Amino acid sequence: MDVLEDQIERVLISHEEIQEKVRELGERITADYSGRDLLLVGVLKGAFVLMADLSRHIRLPMEFDFMAVSSYGAATKTSGVVRILKDLDHEIADRDVLLVEDIVDSGLTLNYLLKNLRTRRPSSLEVCALMHKVEAQQVPLAIKYTGFEIPSVFVVGYGLDYAERFRNLPYVGTLRPEVYGGLPPG
Ligand code: 5GP
Repeated sequence: MDVLEDQIERVLISHEEIQEKVRELGERITADYSGRDLLLVGVLKGAFVLMADLSRHIRLPMEFDFMAVSSYGAATKTSGVVRILKDLDHEIADRDVLLVEDIVDSGLTLNYLLKNLRTRRPSSLEVCALMHKVEAQQVPLAIKYTGFEIPSVFVVGYGLDYAERFRNLPYVGTLRPEVYGGLPPG
């Protein structure tokens, strides 16, 4: 199976659906943050695709920063213990921070990140997540901007990987079981 697409079992969210949703989210964010000091913080690596598309639908002057945290390996489950691999380059005190996440599953990663960022005293802190696995959520979280609520299945594409591959798929889909050898990750 050399061709990337041959490894996909099912397309869950098409490229067109994603683009339409991201445009909508960008318009909402533009309206909500008009006249404010917006700093978009992307959570690497998964959020880089959403960050690039979303930011081009936000018609405001703004700045970018990125954090990298440890997440799923090839076949492990999130533990709630998050390691910061790369911290922000800049201070966020008194800034309007919008955290951009690819997907919220148990919510433990996001919960940790929000707690950590709050200690730095931003003037506001909100979240934009492309996908939310509502059934899997283990901690209460307020996510202001959600793209899609999806079932608890392991997905790849549009920034999301399996063993560092599939991030470049323009849509979100599930993998054929033979790709991960039977048991789905996560
Ligand atoms: P949480 O802490 O919410 O359980 O997990 C968050 C992180 O786990 C996400 O940022 C993402 O890196 C990873 N993750 C959760 N669900 C999936 C999934 O379905 N596919 C992939 N590729 N990563 C996922």
